[in-house]
Amino acid sequence: MAALLDKFGRPITDLRIAITDHCNYKCVYCRTGNEGALYRDLPIADYLRMAGVFAALGIKKVRLTGGEPLLRKGIVELVRDLAKLRSADGEPLELAITTNGHLLAEMAQPLKDAGLDRVTVSMDAVDRDRFARITRVPNGYDNVLAGIRAAKRAGLEPVKVNCVLLRGFNEDQIIPFGKFAREEGVVLRFIEFMPLEEDRVWSPDVVVTLDEILERMSEYLPLVEIPHARSETSRRYRFEDGLGEIGIIAPVSHPFCGHCSRIRVTSDGKIRTCLFSVWDHDLHAQMRRGATDAELEAFIREVVLHKEERHHIGEPDFIPASRTMVHIGG
Ligand code: SF4
Repeated sequence: MAALLDKFGRPITDLRIAITDHCNYKCVYCRTGNEGALYRDLPIADYLRMAGVFAALGIKKVRLTGGEPLLRKGIVELVRDLAKLRSADGEPLELAITTNGHLLAEMAQPLKDAGLDRVTVSMDAVDRDRFARITRVPNGYDNVLAGIRAAKRAGLEPVKVNCVLLRGFNEDQIIPFGKFAREEGVVLRFIEFMPLEEDRVWSPDVVVTLDEILERMSEYLPLVEIPHARSETSRRYRFEDGLGEIGIIAPVSHPFCGHCSRIRVTSDGKIRTCLFSVWDHDLHAQMRRGATDAELEAFIREVVLHKEERHHIGEPDFIPASRTMVHIGG
């Protein structure tokens, strides 16, 4: 079976499926409109079928996202069934989840037992009060910390912690996060703020860039760059003393679209070929009309040929994405 390639020759191997549009957090840089869920969730079996068709086309990694995926009943069973799938090369899929960690403490072990490989926790402050102000949920910090520790105990390693940095909001958390990563033994990743929030307040001035993050963190301890695979979104560094690793995902100042291997399915079953797509492709509509797996494969191949070359953030011709991050799933 020919690999799933877009018209730029990029192999698409990394599928992200949003299995719910609901979230139990209201992070200020994400849900500024507090609109709540806008799109319906599909039956878990539909996401499984979609993943199976994508796996047959050569997808190797499946990441479950949301909203907040741990809110979705049946997620452990879904992971168990995904773990039975094989990619086109006969290998098992690499399974990961991106979560806000609020429910992770009690779910880490069952997810690991079901076949989950890794977990990424979205966390934007290691200061309790700041964390509460960002998420607009009281007592979230202790839940998330307990979740991270439970994930490590369960062996969902490496546990990655993603922090979106906004100037004037949490850039003072850079060094405390460095200390946190070393103490907790997690891989820390800073993410440059992208124009995907609900009320469109993004501006280049709010972005804390890769260079600034490196400069700030180096005031704490020297860093050494780690060579990384071209399709990796993160530039990786370890502290010179060997304790702790950080990554920086810099789509604004150091775009990595040239090696993009990602494709997404939204909670209501629409394919998004890029985070910044201005339209969706309705895979679930094909399923509802009774399409066979072969017809779904042909539909996906055709859609992938429309994958955008790159984003145009900060350029005069930039058009905002047709959905905001909380309704895409990261
Ligand atoms: S912006 Fe679009 S093309 Fe660029 S890396 Fe992200 S998903 Fe891929």
